[in-house]
Amino acid sequence: MIRRTFLTLFFALVYFIPAEAKLDIVYPSSPEVTVNSPITFISGSSDVNSNVTMNSEPVRLWDDGIFVHVIPLNYGVNTVNIQSVHNGITEKKVLKIKRNKLSDKISVKQVPYIKNETGILTAETIKDRATVRSKPSGASSRIIDLPKGIILYLDGYQGDYYKIKEFGNNEFWIHKINISLPQIVSGKNNIKLYSHDCYSDKNYEYHKFSLSQKVLYTIVQEGNKLRLTLYGVKNNENNCNNFDYTFNYSGEILGYDGYYDKDGNFIFRYAKEPKDIDISHPLRNINIFIDAGHGGKDKGTIGPGRIYEKDINLDIASDLIKMLKDAGANVSYSRDNDSSVDLYKRTDISKNNNALISISIHCNSLPYGKNPYNYHGVEVHYYNDNAKMLAQIIKDNLANDLSIRDNGIHKSSFALVRPTNPVSVLIETAYMIYPEEYILLKNKYFRRNAAKSIKKSIEEYILYLNNQNL
Ligand SMILES: [Zn+2]
Repeated sequence: MIRRTFLTLFFALVYFIPAEAKLDIVYPSSPEVTVNSPITFISGSSDVNSNVTMNSEPVRLWDDGIFVHVIPLNYGVNTVNIQSVHNGITEKKVLKIKRNKLSDKISVKQVPYIKNETGILTAETIKDRATVRSKPSGASSRIIDLPKGIILYLDGYQGDYYKIKEFGNNEFWIHKINISLPQIVSGKNNIKLYSHDCYSDKNYEYHKFSLSQKVLYTIVQEGNKLRLTLYGVKNNENNCNNFDYTFNYSGEILGYDGYYDKDGNFIFRYAKEPKDIDISHPLRNINIFIDAGHGGKDKGTIGPGRIYEKDINLDIASDLIKMLKDAGANVSYSRDNDSSVDLYKRTDISKNNNALISISIHCNSLPYGKNPYNYHGVEVHYYNDNAKMLAQIIKDNLANDLSIRDNGIHKSSFALVRPTNPVSVLIETAYMIYPEEYILLKNKYFRRNAAKSIKKSIEEYILYLNNQNL
């Protein structure tokens, strides 16, 4: 009985929805939002032949009836009456967009720094990817992600962050959730370096440092040098408290990283330069990782016609993977279907496949409060200096080959570009919210040209590395 009532209700609803009901608001994603900006945009679609107005102002409809309309916002609640008229049928939607008054700046109480004065304060990292930062704040820059089991000496704390005892001029902070409960100890361990061995395999050169204890480390790129510092390890040569080792390379710096092996030895690893490059087939045997951004539950940004970024990314990535495989590359990837993949799982896949380079493919979004007509074009993100050249080549080619605005390359702390190994970049192909580019992104030929342009860029990068080694 209940089921029948539901069914009747369901059919009644379906029956009474007019066929022309097509007014769809994508952003803002809820009819009541707060946007603290003098303007914001409203995106969505309606029937291509309809007349759409917002507060009686005409709205421009693009291909397939999509619209991206910018409205001014006054302080308080702004009511936006959206109306679509088609074939004598009127659809209406109402948005309430709140803009808060500029309130007086709330004075943030400075939390004092509490220095440890009794004995030596020590703690151990209790999880992998324990992030060390430059300031006692989650917004400060990342120095390194430490593995579990590293003994740290602490100087004191401020709020939730402990300051790692200074070694040299550096300031290192770690959030308390990453470490065991700090304890006072009577003396400091005398950390020894027993041996330093070198070996290599097909993909990497390794330096193994055998230590009496796992220690904090940093690897810093300075031009074509890499400086490894093992903190608190006595260096007899200059009677310094840290062990410094500089690796010199002749050409472009490739992927590198540091980690502890299962026996507790510190391993510094450096990707070998591609050898025996056939200049007519430069991608042959090159290990490449391709990431299609978002996926599954994570849709990425949504275009005004409700096409999801995750699907566009996957399509470009799938074409690119095929092109690279056809060119003889060994390709690994985060996903080849619409599935959710954790960000760190993605970087793990690239490392486990010994990728020389990693490319993450996205399309750009915009937060509320921005004017989408001012933001369009291609940009490429990198984080480490060793990926700057690859970012530059890809960005130059995409801007040229796709004839879209060149928004430059940017140093950005994204999970997919933070690893120093492989050489990692993230592409924002074009903007999903800018109507002209959304229409381009919907076009299969445009997406295939993007894939072609990225493939060409990887070839140019490999040939560039090859020329440097001549
Ligand atoms: Zn994205």
